[in-house]
Amino acid sequence: MKYIGAHVSTSGGVENAPLNAHNIGATAFALFTKNQRQWLTPPLSEASINAFKANCEQFGYTAAQILPHDGYLINLGNPDDEALEKSRASFLCEMQRCEQLGLTLLNFHPGSHLRVISVEDCLSRIAESINITLGKTNGVCAVIENTAGQGSNVGNKFEEIRYIIDRIEDKQRVGVCIDTCHSFAAGYDLSTPAACESTFKAFDEVIGLKYLRAMHLNDAKKPLSSHVDRHESIGSGTIGEDAFKWIMENPAFDGIPFILETPEPEIWPDEIARLKSYAGC
Ligand SMILES: [Zn+2]
Ligand SMILES: [Zn+2]
Repeated sequence: MKYIGAHVSTSGGVENAPLNAHNIGATAFALFTKNQRQWLTPPLSEASINAFKANCEQFGYTAAQILPHDGYLINLGNPDDEALEKSRASFLCEMQRCEQLGLTLLNFHPGSHLRVISVEDCLSRIAESINITLGKTNGVCAVIENTAGQGSNVGNKFEEIRYIIDRIEDKQRVGVCIDTCHSFAAGYDLSTPAACESTFKAFDEVIGLKYLRAMHLNDAKKPLSSHVDRHESIGSGTIGEDAFKWIMENPAFDGIPFILETPEPEIWPDEIARLKSYAGC
């Protein structure tokens, strides 16, 4: 079984996310549990938490089908100690909100070295940030998203993600989210079934398929190895439809959430229906 959906709006409260997901025929969804452009926000109200849980139950979403995404300001590898503390506090706040909502995954971008420290030093800082946060929380898995390698963002090479995972104390609570657009932009080809085969073989050899906890399904606007993060609708970009068909047909990816972050929300119902048909669900 594959869970397929999109990153939906929480306008009016987190409790609206499951409704918005249901309305587009989704069996999975992503959401921000707080304003993604703020460091800290007031705690979730009891009413909002209860309504979220009730709506998830009503529309058939379990924690395994929900992939919260952290805010945009957080840089867990920030070279500046003060800024790093701010990021860690915000990331803790994100993870605690997941705990409160009964969620088990938290998707985040690893971080940036800002051309001040080495890639390794940045990756070590990220690992330390994750260890600190996991030590203060329970039951939520830190899901590292691979990046396009734009600017000074780390985590575009599978080896860099492996480097972080190697330093995580509780390996049960660390995982990876593969974004297809980011992979392609980082130089991992997906444009043919053979290319998909070799990219995921590399993933398995370097990181291990058991760490794959989610995927973001996005086509790309830019060519292979562009290092530019520009999403395109499924089948309309430089990756092409075949990759998504190959992924959906692959039983190795059963049981994880697949999230669209494609640029035309009005066609999400069609994209989801097409992906579901490839997956046979
Ligand atoms: Zn993504
Ligand atoms: Zn992206």
